[in-house]
Amino acid sequence: MSDVRVIPLGGCGEIGKNCTVVEQGDEQIVVDCGLSFPHEEHYGVDIVVPDFRYLIEGRKNLKGVFLTHAHEDHVGALSFLLPKVKVPVYATPLTAALVRSKLEERIGRSEVDLRIVKPGDTVTLDELSVEFVRVTHSIPETCALAVRTVHGVVFFTADFKIDFTPVDRKLTDLGRLTEIAQEGVVLLLSDSTNVDRPGWGPSESQVRASFEHLFAEAQGRVMVTMFSSNIHRMQQAFDAAQATGRKIACTGRRMETTIEICRSLQYLTIPENTFVKLEDAAKLRHKEVAFLVTGSQGEPMAALSQMSRGEYSRMKIVPGDTVVYSARPIPGNEGAIWRTVNRLVQQGAHVITEHDSPIHVSGHAYQEELKTMVNLLKPYYIAPVHGEPRHQQLYGDMAFAMGFPEHRVFRLANGDTLHLDDNKAWIGERVAAGDVLIDQHGNVPVTEKVLAQRSALGHDGVVVMTLGVDLEKGEIVARPEAQTLGYSGPGAAIEDALDGVCDALAGMRKDALRDRDAIEKAIVQTAGAIISRRCQQRPVVVPALVEV
Ligand SMILES: [Zn+2]
Ligand SMILES: [Zn+2]
Repeated sequence: MSDVRVIPLGGCGEIGKNCTVVEQGDEQIVVDCGLSFPHEEHYGVDIVVPDFRYLIEGRKNLKGVFLTHAHEDHVGALSFLLPKVKVPVYATPLTAALVRSKLEERIGRSEVDLRIVKPGDTVTLDELSVEFVRVTHSIPETCALAVRTVHGVVFFTADFKIDFTPVDRKLTDLGRLTEIAQEGVVLLLSDSTNVDRPGWGPSESQVRASFEHLFAEAQGRVMVTMFSSNIHRMQQAFDAAQATGRKIACTGRRMETTIEICRSLQYLTIPENTFVKLEDAAKLRHKEVAFLVTGSQGEPMAALSQMSRGEYSRMKIVPGDTVVYSARPIPGNEGAIWRTVNRLVQQGAHVITEHDSPIHVSGHAYQEELKTMVNLLKPYYIAPVHGEPRHQQLYGDMAFAMGFPEHRVFRLANGDTLHLDDNKAWIGERVAAGDVLIDQHGNVPVTEKVLAQRSALGHDGVVVMTLGVDLEKGEIVARPEAQTLGYSGPGAAIEDALDGVCDALAGMRKDALRDRDAIEKAIVQTAGAIISRRCQQRPVVVPALVEV
């Protein structure tokens, strides 16, 4: 009997770019296909996507990409995979609608083969089958996936929480989880994002009361910023607006599109006469209006950030406005968020964050919810995913405390191959996996070399050394000259570098002076070494040879 292989290409040891391959024999499927956001050192990088070489170059029979929900960290890299491999994508109606609208913007309709699956449905392939099981999360219709293999069920929890009062009243299908446990779950891949939070997380529906209170108390306009995918949160803002006599307008194209899609598919129930155009909202009294705005993460081009700089042409902040941050900062974004908050305060706004009022709850399971999932499914092996190494370690500790022995807990890294057979599991060969950095000016990957150069340019600037040469005769015709950009070290270090370059060139043999590469290399190495010795700076040295 062939073994089953589970290979994460993203999402292990990190929060973002979730993408996992499951294989049995020749058959292969992918669960989720997400992106992540760049770190500070990723100069000029817009998004990060998984390295798909294993899927593109592989000789396996890829049967489908199965999506758990429509968050970017689970679907955002589809536009990079689908043009390279022809494969159907399976998703629930809402996930499919949101994915379709994004994909059509990015790659056009022809390459997208989306197949709709309802929560509770099973997709049967040749050897594997995949069942969609409803769970609660911060976006409707999130589904855990039960992948049936010859060695038992491989269960992906997806991003989940166990919310007994979800906004759409659609509960995690706990009954089905216990039935699947009866079949035998060989491996559980569990969300671990909130494993450091003890207890049971609050219900999303708690936000409603906070919104109502804020909408009723504020004397001026209220701007609520949130992720444009947080449909439950939007619903609660609309309900609170209706209850307090406000109307809602929204800013940001992505948010407008999401509201339109969700409204037409009835995932969002907008009370009559509550939703108005931004232009019409300007005619209302300040006490009668609230806005949903993009920019909760301090994104420079989002509406809220532009408003904070007074650059948003459709709307200005005025004293008396209240800005409500209804989102948790993604780690790394805190600086940009607080800078935006400070500018809003300077413009006269009253800013309310999670610290001041319960206006945000997480969509991810806390510790007791994670334990509940384990207890319901009774897996043999367990692997925490959707977490950084610290989350995976804490989850491991939690599993040990629940009685799991060490050999049944796997803290996987991207690129690991976890093999499962009838009586054991082990980590075998590694496959190509890693970050592919995508430039903000298009779908162009940024190499490590370019990134290192950008980093050097950002730190110590650039020195251009121009040199007149006669390559045919192998002669230096003019002494090198230097020009700097963004270099803050002493001029004397540059002078020394020029002297050093002259000495180095004088010491080179005639045939070496006929070789452009050899001259350039001598300039870069000599000048770089002298400048760094003189002032500990490492500007990028660019040789510019002028042939005479
Ligand atoms: Zn996620
Ligand atoms: Zn999610």
